[in-house]
Amino acid sequence: MLKLKNLSVSIEGKKILEDISFDFRAGKTYALMGPNGSGKSTLASAIMGHPHYKISKASKIILRVTPTPQSRRLASSPWKGAQGKNKNIKNLSPDKRAKLGIFLSFQTPITLPGVTVFELLQLALEKQIDPVTLHGRVKAYAKELRIKDELLKRSLNDGFSGGEKKKLEALQAVLLQPRLALFDEIDTGVDVDALKTISQFLKKHLPKETTTVFITHSTRLLRYIKPEEVLIMKMGRLVKTGREALAKKIEREGFDKM
Ligand code: ADP
Ligand code: MG
Repeated sequence: MLKLKNLSVSIEGKKILEDISFDFRAGKTYALMGPNGSGKSTLASAIMGHPHYKISKASKIILRVTPTPQSRRLASSPWKGAQGKNKNIKNLSPDKRAKLGIFLSFQTPITLPGVTVFELLQLALEKQIDPVTLHGRVKAYAKELRIKDELLKRSLNDGFSGGEKKKLEALQAVLLQPRLALFDEIDTGVDVDALKTISQFLKKHLPKETTTVFITHSTRLLRYIKPEEVLIMKMGRLVKTGREALAKKIEREGFDKM
């Protein structure tokens, strides 16, 4: 559903990703692993369309466009006319990519003073779900995730703990029902109980056809999410792909011998 072809990315003249080609398939779960600084977050940013990163001319990011239940209703959806087709999204802005069903949960979610999670979701959904229904859904999901009611009324991520921020990211992902969900270190700064809650929540509520990519530098998360494929990055390159056995090998030996 998302094909990367010879993806090379640089920032301020410094090459960070080099010649990455990979085909993410619909409905599959992936773990993207690698030591700190290997380029995992950069890859996620490049897929989402972060404007700071320069993508080389030869690179292609091909998305097979299938509208989500949400995007189907959006007046400003860019998928119209492109449905069922493969589209090179390399030059699309992040908001357009989001409307095509790509979701990125940041490694460090930013604080939005003056904006509640509810207001943010209402905007993202272009008021296609009526406020009362949306409120009800947010509250029900928050309860499942054991998020305190009080947090829903506060500015997004303002004074939230690491675990609370990541729970809110999971909640947003589920409400937006993306086609491709990228979770950048959803496990970092999260205790075991919260990690279990988040993993179970995502597994239960993300649509079956959603492609999910969990980015992590630790094997801890793999106990809760069972990836069908594991990708290893090192120094900006995709160096290995494999199945569960590869994850086990990393658990035993670390990334050094990859
Ligand atoms: P990871 O997520 O695997 O830890 P990153 O994608 O964050 O790795 O970083 C990959 C490399 O790119 C690192 O060497 C990092 O220092 C560099 N890098 C990332 N973002 C920037 C930036 N905005 N400016 C300069 N260098 C950057
Ligand atoms: Mg990172």
